[in-house]
Formats: sequence, C-alpha cells, structure tokens
Amino acid sequence: MIIDSHVHISIYNKNAVSLEEAFELFLKVMEKNGIISAIIIPDNIEGGDGIADLDKAIELIGQRENLFLLGSPQIIQRGSNELGKYQRLLKEEKIKGLKFFPGHDPYFPTDERCLPYYELCEKLDIPVLFHTGENSGDSECAKWNDPKHIVQIAKKYLKLKVIITHYYWPKLDYCYEITKDVSNIYFELAALADKEVVEKSGGIEKIREILRKTIFDRPAKVIFGTDWPMCEIENHIELVKSLGLSKEIEEKVFYKNSINVYKLDIVKH
Ligand SMILES: [Zn+2]
Repeated sequence: MIIDSHVHISIYNKNAVSLEEAFELFLKVMEKNGIISAIIIPDNIEGGDGIADLDKAIELIGQRENLFLLGSPQIIQRGSNELGKYQRLLKEEKIKGLKFFPGHDPYFPTDERCLPYYELCEKLDIPVLFHTGENSGDSECAKWNDPKHIVQIAKKYLKLKVIITHYYWPKLDYCYEITKDVSNIYFELAALADKEVVEKSGGIEKIREILRKTIFDRPAKVIFGTDWPMCEIENHIELVKSLGLSKEIEEKVFYKNSINVYKLDIVKH
C-alpha cells in the first residue's frame, strides 16, 4: 500500500492538454503504481490553465474517496487575509494541511504574514508543508526557504508539525544537520529521485545515505511523496525500496506516517 503525499494536477510537462486530461492521467498512473491514495497540492498560482488551484482541484476530485488536498495561502498577494477561509476549509476537512511556497514567492518562512496560519495549524493540530531547495535552473531562490528559517518556526511553535519537502536540495547534509535536533520537523520525499535533483545533490548514494539517517532518527516522520507529474512515481518507489528498510519501517514511510500526520481517512475496498 502506498500513499503519494505530494502531487500536482498540471500540464507543465506537456503530458496532457487540459487539467481534466491531466487528472484522468493521474488516476491511471495511480492505479498502475499501486497508489491507493494521494494528496493533491493546489498551486499558489490561481485561475491558471497550466496547474490546478484549490477550486479546480476540488472540482476535479468530486466525490472520489482517498484523494485529499492541501491549502496554499497567497502570502504575497493577500498576506494574512485568508485566515478565515482556511480556518473554515480545515474545520470542514476540505483540506488536510497548508503548503507554503517560499522560493516560488519572495518571502521567508518567518515572515510575519505567515504566523497567523502557523498559530491556526498548531491549534487545530494540522501540519504545514514548506517547499525548499532550488527551483530547476534557479539556485538563488533557495535563500527564501533555507531550513534555518524553518527551524525557527518549529522552535517557536513547538506543537506544530512542520514538514520539509525536497530536503533543501542540493544541500542535503546541511539540511540534515540543522534540523537534526528539532523533533517536530518531518520530511516528505518529493523530487528526491528526480534526475536533476539526484545529480546536483551528489548522486543517488548521497540521497540514500541521508534518507537512511533521517528515517533512523525519525521513523514516524518521513513521508512518501513524488511531485508527479514533474517527477516519476516509479523512481521514487524504487528509491524507498532501495534503502533496505525493514518491512515495518517501509510501511510507515509508504503510507502509515502520512495517515497519522495528515489524519487521512482511507477507504479500503
Ligand atoms: Zn510540488
């Protein structure tokens, strides 16, 4: 059983001509890879034809079981003004967490416009997810999501579940060291089996070494994700299987941790 906790519905890699087609394609890819559930992350760009925003994602999912969503507050455009909206969506369980995009957008995780969202999520025991690392072809942007800022947030909101995705690639060692002693930090694996990410981060053995250490330190806090469609689901499954984990720990990474952290109600047929 596998839950992919990080996918987007987009046509960025020209896999489909519409978001509807991209969504249908995702359903097929899920089935092919034995993915029984997924968390779809709407983009922080709204109303675009290239990637589904929250409204579009809600429409596409419809009544389907086992597909979940995160919210993506518009920090630059709307500051803290969407707090009421996200509080409602979280309480109605329309979304399972909030994702922040420092580095896509020019703000730091410590930006005071973000703080009311962290307070809300801490109060409701809902995780926040931070995009980290370089963007393809842009290393400058990583200054916005340096994990040193994320550590500050995790230490300020001690009960907040703080999830780092992309492991601040290509600086995995730095990210491991700086987060090592912060127990409310979680890791989600999206893009870590991507060719460019692997090459720039020191090769697949380096990725494996960091993941083994991280899973050893926090077996309940590492979550499987892929960043489909920009990354291949198959490579990510292969990466986790290549770590030589016990069956018990592998099950945690593939789905149990996600169920616990995001509080997912999975329907089994
Ligand atoms: Zn992503």
